[in-house]
Amino acid sequence: MQTADVVIIGGGIVGSSIACHLTAAGCPNVLVIERESAQGKGSTGKSMGGVRAQFSTPVSIQMSLYSIPFYASFEERLGYPCDYRPQGYLFCATSDAHMAYLRTNYAQQISLGLKNVRLLPGDEIRGMFPQLRADDIVGGSFCSSDGFVDPYSAMTGFMTRAAEHGATLWKNAAVTGLLRDAHGIASVETTRGSVATRRVVNCAGAWAASVARFVSVDLPVEPLRRMLVPSEPFDEFPHTAPMIVDMSNGFHFRPEARGFLLAWNDPEETPGFKTDFDPAFVEKILTRAADRVPCFANLPVNSKRAWAGLYEMTPDHHPILGEAPGVPGFFLANGFSGHGVMHAPATGKILSDLILTGKTHLIDASLLGLSRFAEGRLIHETAVL
Ligand SMILES: Cc1cc2nc3c(=O)[nH]c(=O)nc-3n(C[C@H](O)[C@H](O)[C@H](O)COP(=O)(O)OP(=O)(O)OC[C@H]3O[C@@H](n4cnc5c(N)ncnc54)[C@H](O)[C@@H]3O)c2cc1C
Repeated sequence: MQTADVVIIGGGIVGSSIACHLTAAGCPNVLVIERESAQGKGSTGKSMGGVRAQFSTPVSIQMSLYSIPFYASFEERLGYPCDYRPQGYLFCATSDAHMAYLRTNYAQQISLGLKNVRLLPGDEIRGMFPQLRADDIVGGSFCSSDGFVDPYSAMTGFMTRAAEHGATLWKNAAVTGLLRDAHGIASVETTRGSVATRRVVNCAGAWAASVARFVSVDLPVEPLRRMLVPSEPFDEFPHTAPMIVDMSNGFHFRPEARGFLLAWNDPEETPGFKTDFDPAFVEKILTRAADRVPCFANLPVNSKRAWAGLYEMTPDHHPILGEAPGVPGFFLANGFSGHGVMHAPATGKILSDLILTGKTHLIDASLLGLSRFAEGRLIHETAVL
């Protein structure tokens, strides 16, 4: 029978980062199992690639404080590019309540050591982007080290580096079951046969709950469709712009190639494995786009280029990390609630630490364990886009 020190289920950006961190820490016999014919066919290949440290909870901020410098030095560290572009995130507040919220978050971010974040008066935002309809913008918050990466490049960079250090990637191989013995996990059943191992990491993204069911673990991770609309080339708004977030309704956009990528969280969306793009979404998002950026009334959009993917939502919008209670050797790296690309480097480090040493200094990992749901210790992240 094939053996591995650690088996990772799912070859998206999270599984790839964990493989990379494990091999870098001296654990080379890592097997990543991906059911698709290629990596990136889950959420990673659908992502908007935004990376930010402007969160509301200490643990989310701490994960970004590891991840963003990691992305900034990705090529130096791993030898492959991830196309990190520090163009920033600009949150535009349209009420005093928004501004108070940004102020509280700012204080938290600064206290944890974030350097490049600042609060802006409305006039400064109007000066920076006169193209915005800014009559109702009372101020905002901007962090210049936030920005974007290319999720596909980051994922393949992590995996290639892991493979150079001994890891193996199986494609076209689905995990169909997990077997246990008196000590915990004993083997992984796959469409390519069994693999004997004592340690397994669930990195199955939006499909993580079905993997957890193999060992009767109830994982509160629900798929939620997210749609993105890219524009055709458009020069009436600067391409050096950050991710701009309209806090009045959650509409946000960023430059992409010679055009812009538009996003909005439709409150009418319901959980489910829906990955088809709904053409009716185009009008909904363009209405919001033109409302905040009047020149976007002329934005050329080809709805055939738009796409949909899945967020993997938890009830408190934080990931579930660490060993599952009652199943020794079954580790979880799930439920990123739309932040899995930006938090993949930290997740790789945290899981590698927990698997190899049982502890991590990066965060207080007990905060993100699965037991928080049964124990009523939820910590709500509200800065979710
Ligand atoms: C439209 C959209 C925009 C987003 N924008 C951002 C953003 O701006 N910033 C950000 O940080 N995040 C963003 N996200 C979220 C981000 O994409 C995810 O959090 C991240 O990709 C999760 O990575 P993952 O590796 O856990 O999951 P995935 O990339 O989904 O990988 C999981 C893999 O597991 C495989 N798998 C599942 N079950 C099995 C099995 N039984 N056997 C073998 N393989 C299996 C799947 O095939 C898949 O390849 C966005 C997501 C979407 C959909």
